[in-house]
Amino acid sequence: MDSGGFLFLKNNKMGVSANKISDVYEKAKIDIGVTLDHPLNPSLSSSENRKRWECTLRNTEVMFLTKGSYGFMPVVHGYTLNELKKSCQQIRNIVGEPALIGIGSLVPLIKASYLGNGFLYRRSNGENGDHITFIADALKLVREEFPNSFMHVFGVGGITTALLMFALGADSVDSVAWRLKAGYGAIQLPGISDRFLSPRPESKKSRPVLSEKEEKTLAHCDCPICINYRKIGWQKRRLDNSFKSRAIHNGWIFLKEVVAFRDEIFKGKGYHFIVERLSKQHRLSKLFLHSIQE
Ligand SMILES: [Zn+2]
Repeated sequence: MDSGGFLFLKNNKMGVSANKISDVYEKAKIDIGVTLDHPLNPSLSSSENRKRWECTLRNTEVMFLTKGSYGFMPVVHGYTLNELKKSCQQIRNIVGEPALIGIGSLVPLIKASYLGNGFLYRRSNGENGDHITFIADALKLVREEFPNSFMHVFGVGGITTALLMFALGADSVDSVAWRLKAGYGAIQLPGISDRFLSPRPESKKSRPVLSEKEEKTLAHCDCPICINYRKIGWQKRRLDNSFKSRAIHNGWIFLKEVVAFRDEIFKGKGYHFIVERLSKQHRLSKLFLHSIQE
């Protein structure tokens, strides 16, 4: 269970206390609870962001001391590698070696929102990096600081971005893209970008309509919705007419893609699996595609 701290990304003060969140976790009998963290915002000054991190640290201490039997996940934040390294040390001072560790504040970098005049930091080789290289450098740094911890990345977006996070060293991610896509009428399919099942001129997003060839891929879907249909026409109609059915289908495809990617890693073909799915237009493509050209 997450604390809801992300809701305060755009607010300077948090409207909820760490003790309150601890109570909710206790009552909900959760397995894993995330610290009440105040995400950094790249459009704020470094002193404002420092105050946010200090608030997160205080909350982490309170929640760690009062936590029940659930697994507690502290979260590190920082917009320079030094800041991030320091926050790892500060977390270690409070909880020791964490079994679970989260990396926060990456959402504005992944979405490239609130970046103002851009995002700049010093890479470990002394070169300047941008918001894209920072994502890779941050995951590497936290993985090196906590080699034995289960590492979670918050708010990663779509399937491809999730797979890239796994490739960069994450153990788990969370994403609402599958549900958002269902909301505007799109379905996901393995290895194919989003599709509409019929033209949707009223939708805010434009997506290609499923082709005849892609219908064959959909016909093989074994999600809890599609499995009930032998005829593709009925299956398409059900998905086209029901948000809930699309959400279940999309969530299923998301998880199936993760499982398929992990299988390919064991065969030594993880990189190939990703590159096949990665378009040059993807925000994070430069982290992966340049190594092919070289
Ligand atoms: Zn399905």
